[in-house]
Amino acid sequence: MATFLWEEIVFGPIISRRVGRSLGINLLPREAKVCTFDCVYCECGGLKRGAGKHPLPTFSEVRDAICGKFEALAAAGQGVDSISFTGNGEPTLHPDFAAIIDVTLSVRSRWFPEAVVSVFSNASMLDRAEVVAALKKVDNPILKLDCALDDMAAVMNRPRGGYSVAKAIEGMKAFGGDFVMQTMLVRGPVVDNTTPAALAAWYDVVRQVHPREIMLYSVDRDTPVSGIEKVPAADLASAAAPLAAEGFNVKING
Ligand code: SF4
Repeated sequence: MATFLWEEIVFGPIISRRVGRSLGINLLPREAKVCTFDCVYCECGGLKRGAGKHPLPTFSEVRDAICGKFEALAAAGQGVDSISFTGNGEPTLHPDFAAIIDVTLSVRSRWFPEAVVSVFSNASMLDRAEVVAALKKVDNPILKLDCALDDMAAVMNRPRGGYSVAKAIEGMKAFGGDFVMQTMLVRGPVVDNTTPAALAAWYDVVRQVHPREIMLYSVDRDTPVSGIEKVPAADLASAAAPLAAEGFNVKING
């Protein structure tokens, strides 16, 4: 099974038609995934015993990596269109997440003022005011909600600690609709969050938290748990249709 771990703090630029020249920032260890979830589809692979023993990069290491990369690209006359916090787990777990966002926004303004800053988060840390405040500063807080039913989230996202859908909803409400919801749909004997009951519950959550955009996608790499099936693009579109009809901005990546 092929999995993917980031080996650098700042990665790229990767060039894509969708977002242009993109840099990724990994605030987690290089050696192992560190996350509050252990999703059955995670591209980083499954959580390994002892993963938490690997140190996170320090604030200084992250700041120096970001400043060094930005300055070098600018000196070489290369632009950056997009900067995304993603990487080997949940970026908001970093104890200096808020300070790192401040540094990034400041350096972005200096070197690449047009670049769009995004954070991909699983929304498990939204009970921390400083995490919400930092996420609100970036252009795209992208918050995961795959399952609107706790028993299904327990199987699909395998959260640790005190995660509940109700807590995620409360956290998302703090954004007043100014965030992007990211939802992974999968099928298979392990979990199927495309059933009418699962989708009806998810529609209800979307109506409550009213994201300005919904990113709907399915797996396209090997998964750490076998039997996870990709949902075809046509079925993603069918799942999105009721929300699109209500005026929600649903983007399908299938
Ligand atoms: S939240 Fe993201 S990083 Fe964490 S286990 Fe799920 S897919 Fe992997």
